[in-house]
Amino acid sequence: MRIDILTLLPGMFEGPLTESILKRAADSGALELHVHNIRDYSTMRHKQADDKPYGGGAGMLLMAEPIVRCIEAITCEGQESRKRQKGQKSRDKKSCVSATPYRIYLSAGGKRLTQSKVERLAKKDWILLLCGHYEGIDQRVIDGWIDEEISIGDYVLTGGEIPAMVIVDSVVRKIPGVLGKDVSADLDSFSKEFDRKREYPQYTRPEVFRDHKVPEVLLSGNHKKIEEWRESKLR
Ligand code: SAM
Repeated sequence: MRIDILTLLPGMFEGPLTESILKRAADSGALELHVHNIRDYSTMRHKQADDKPYGGGAGMLLMAEPIVRCIEAITCEGQESRKRQKGQKSRDKKSCVSATPYRIYLSAGGKRLTQSKVERLAKKDWILLLCGHYEGIDQRVIDGWIDEEISIGDYVLTGGEIPAMVIVDSVVRKIPGVLGKDVSADLDSFSKEFDRKREYPQYTRPEVFRDHKVPEVLLSGNHKKIEEWRESKLR
């Protein structure tokens, strides 16, 4: 899967996306991640990317021009790179990929991110994540160049960077093979297998920790009973 992130603060992605499972996904080739600075696409003096809102009001808005130029440049570069890949591996089914990214704007006003939405996004081969800043972005970008607005919850953050990281993390762990063969992302809270409910309680050694005991059934070795207990504990 290819993910392109558009942001005013590319440095914010250096830590989280170069560690742990995301790093492993990138190293294995399951994830191709590109972070772009919206400011680099400004044609104005001093790389200005924001301006005052029409009609007045507090704060600044990200302007349409640098964002749209950035989206167009990414789309064009991505299509070229895919054409090259296709040429190199014309018999490889994986090279038959969609020609445009699925464009998401992270927005407090968007539809709430859920596990089923994460699963849907994990099936896409190319996603673009647009991070807003200040008071948000010019509405014309949303109207003309965005496929979906996604919110990570009913509260307001300073920028779309943390929501973008939430999407990358939750989506990438659903790409087959990324978690490693011993771990299944199908048996987690909100999965279809759990009827979209929250996971049952889990325990590890020791059997007694400061007078707190592991439930007897989990030590019984009776797999049928353990399954029933776990199912009864889904919330
Ligand atoms: N004026 C906007 C409003 O009332 O919805 C808030 C803008 S917020 C300070 C700046 C940026 O942070 C937004 O453009 C968006 O990209 C991001 N953001 C803030 N809260 C978010 C949330 N709950 N989910 C996704 N993105 C969010």
